[in-house]
Amino acid sequence: MTTKRYCFYCGGHLYPIKDASGKAKQGHYICSVCGAKFYDNPIPAVAALVLDRKNLLLTRRAVPPFKGSWCLPGGFMESGEDTLQALTRELHEETGLIGKSFQLIDVASFTDSSHQSKGVIIIGYHVSVYEGNLRPGDDALDAKFFRVENLPSIPFSTHRFLIERLHQLMSANRL
Ligand SMILES: [Zn+2]
Repeated sequence: MTTKRYCFYCGGHLYPIKDASGKAKQGHYICSVCGAKFYDNPIPAVAALVLDRKNLLLTRRAVPPFKGSWCLPGGFMESGEDTLQALTRELHEETGLIGKSFQLIDVASFTDSSHQSKGVIIIGYHVSVYEGNLRPGDDALDAKFFRVENLPSIPFSTHRFLIERLHQLMSANRL
């Protein structure tokens, strides 16, 4: 059973939009009062791939999901931010480092086949220049560099994909 949802504009109840065969379209809603449509679009997020020679910076998660696991620094974009502002903020919050130069690595997306979440689009940047002292922030238990060829287990397929792309670019001397 899904929770009741209400229109952003008029407060009317939202109902699932149905396709021609009468089946509800996942994540599509229409307002019963004003007719406005709403969509559960994937949420944009950013991830930082910070390299110190052949070492990659990872943070240890202080919050669910996968609390205690290692992952790339990053997080969801906030209102009013562009991607690099979001990346700079998340990197600083989680690791204390201030990113100064960025290179787009690739974009990874996650869709949840169980439809428990809207899905996420993660934009990965190589952070080639940074300053500041490494210290784990509020939503990280730890932050440290690991040898690229000897990383701990990372639970997010999107992060593993971005790290694989980083490997490819390093092998091709394109970083
Ligand atoms: Zn409405």
